[in-house]
Amino acid sequence: MSGPLKNFLPFLKPYMRRILLGMLLGCIAGGASGLGVPFFIQKVFKTIFDSQNTAYSLPYLIGIAACLPGIFLLRGVTGYYNQFIITVVGIRMLQDVRAKVFDKMQRLPLKWYEQRHTGDLLSRIVGDTTQMSQALLSMGNDGVQYVFQSIGGIIYLVILSVQNSEAMFILLLMAMTPLMTWPVRWIGKQLKKRGREVQDALGGMSEALTENLHGSVEVRAFNLQDRERSLFRAKLDQFLHASIKLTRYDKLPQPLMEIIAVSLLSVSFVYAYRAGIGFDVFSGMGAALYFTVDSFKRMVRAWNQVQRSQGAFERVEQIMSAPDDVEGTPGGLKLEKAAGAVAMREVGFAYGEEPTLRGICVDIAPGTVCGLVGPSGAGKSTFVKLLPRFYDVNSGTVLVDGHDVRGLDLASLRSQIAYVPQSPVLFNDTVLNNILLGRPGATREEAIDAARAANADEFIRTRLPQGYDTIVGENAGRLSGGQRQRLALARAFLRDAPILILDEATSALDSESEAHIHNALERLVKGRTVFIVAHRFSTLKLCDRVLVFDRGSIVADGKPDELMKSSGLYRQLHSLQTL
Ligand code: ATP
Repeated sequence: MSGPLKNFLPFLKPYMRRILLGMLLGCIAGGASGLGVPFFIQKVFKTIFDSQNTAYSLPYLIGIAACLPGIFLLRGVTGYYNQFIITVVGIRMLQDVRAKVFDKMQRLPLKWYEQRHTGDLLSRIVGDTTQMSQALLSMGNDGVQYVFQSIGGIIYLVILSVQNSEAMFILLLMAMTPLMTWPVRWIGKQLKKRGREVQDALGGMSEALTENLHGSVEVRAFNLQDRERSLFRAKLDQFLHASIKLTRYDKLPQPLMEIIAVSLLSVSFVYAYRAGIGFDVFSGMGAALYFTVDSFKRMVRAWNQVQRSQGAFERVEQIMSAPDDVEGTPGGLKLEKAAGAVAMREVGFAYGEEPTLRGICVDIAPGTVCGLVGPSGAGKSTFVKLLPRFYDVNSGTVLVDGHDVRGLDLASLRSQIAYVPQSPVLFNDTVLNNILLGRPGATREEAIDAARAANADEFIRTRLPQGYDTIVGENAGRLSGGQRQRLALARAFLRDAPILILDEATSALDSESEAHIHNALERLVKGRTVFIVAHRFSTLKLCDRVLVFDRGSIVADGKPDELMKSSGLYRQLHSLQTL
C-alpha cells in the first residue's frame, strides 16, 4: 500500500481482531464459491447423468442434491457475516477518522484557516472521509472474499486439468491473464486522477454553497441572486463534468471483464468438445470459470474504488499532516494567576510578505488600562492577537509577567486572558451556556451576575422568550449586534482573567447602552491589565495610557490629555471622531 493510504492504516489497528474474523469468513465464503460450488455441481451432475447405469437410493439422491443448497448456505452465511463485520468496522473507522480530523482541526493555527475555505474543509471532513471508508470497505469485503473465490476457482481448474491431463487448458487461461491486468491498471490510473477531480469539484461546490449561506443578507440587499446562481451553476457544471469523466472509466471494467469471461468460456467450449470432456466435468469447469472471472470482476471493482478514493485520502491527509497550532513548549511554565505585566521587545510580524508590525517596544505595568488608536489597518488588532499567541512573532519577543509567551504552557497562557473580538461568535446554544463559555464550571447565578454587569440581564429577561434558556440560533441571528456584544462582554466578566482584551468590543452599542455599560466597564477593568482597541474616543475615558498606531508602528504613547498636546495624529483622529 502506498502514499496517503498507508498513513491511514493505524486507524485499522483497533479493529484488527474483527477484521481478521471478517477476512476468515470471507476466505470461507470465497473458497466455498470458487472451489466448493463447482465441485458439488460436478458431483451432483455426475450422479444424475450416471443414473441410467447406476441405481441410487432415494435418500442418497436427496443427500447428494442437498449438497448444492448446503454449499450455497455456507457461502451465504459466511459471506453475509464477512460483509456485515467489515462494514461495521468501516463505519466505526469512518467515525474515528472524522473525530481525528476534527481534533486536528482544533489544533491548527488561525493562519491555516485563513488560507482555506470553510466549504472545502466541510467537504473534506464529510465527503472525502466517506469516500475513504468506502474504499476500505471495498478492500475488506470484495478484496478478501473474491481473492479467495478466484484462488478456489483456479485451484479447482488446476485439479480438473491435472485429473484429465488437460494442462493445456490452464495454459490458455494463463495466456488470458495479461489481457485482464493491462486494462485494469490503465483504468485504475484514470480513476485515481478523475477521483481527485471529483473530490476537488465537490469541495468547490461546497465552498460556493457556504459562501452563499453566509452572505444571504448581502445577496438580497445587492440583488446578487443572478450572480450567485451562475457561480453555483458553474461549480455544479464542474462537478458534473468531473463525475461524467469518472463514470466513463468507472463503468468500463464491467463489460470489459464480461467480454473476457465469455471469450474464456468460448475457448473452453471448443476445447471441451475437442478433448471429449463429459458434461459433468464441463459443468464443474464452467462453474469454476464463472466464479473465477466473477471474482476478478469484483476485485477490479474494489481496486477501482481504492484508486478513485486516493484523491480523498490525499485531501484528508493534507489536513492531518499540517503543522499544529503555535507549539506550546512541552512542559512549559504554567501561569496560575498572572499579575498581568505585558511587554514587547522589538516585535516584528507579517501575515504575508508585507510587515504588519515592526519594531514594537512597549512595557505595560499590571493594572494599566491601555487604549489603542490609529487609522484603519494600522495594526491594532494584530498587536492584541499576539498576546494569546493567535500568531507568533516573526522577530522580537512578547512577554507576560516577564516570560516569553513561547515558553509558556499555551492553554494556561490563554486562561489568563479574556478576549472579546470585533465580531464575537455565539454558539447555537442557550444564552446561559453561551455566557458560561467564559468560565466553564461557573454557576447559573455567577453567569447572571456577569450578564447584569454587562448590561445584558434586562434584555435577556424581557426580550427573549425563555430568558436565559433561550436558544440564540445559528450565529445568534435573532439578536441585534449590540445584544451580541453585551453577551460577549458578559462572558469576559465571567472569565475574570487578569488580562482583558476588548477589540472594538463596544462598537455596536448605542449611546444609551454604552452609557450603561461604561460603569460596568469601569468595574470590569479595575485591577486588570486591559487593552481596548477603540474607534470611539469616549471609550478612552477609561484609559490610563494610549498607544497610537500608524502603519505598523507605535508613533505616540502617553496619557490621553498629554497626547492631545503632543501627538498630531492623535489630535487628528480625535477631531475626526468629534466632527
Ligand atoms: P481596523 O481599525 O480597521 O480594525 P487595525 O489597526 O486593527 O485596523 P489590523 O486588523 O491589525 O489593523 O490589520 C493590520 C494589517 O494587517 C491590515 O493591512 C490588514 O489588511 C492585515 N491583516 C489583518 N488580518 C490579516 C490576516 N488574517 N491575514 C492577512 N492580512 C491581515
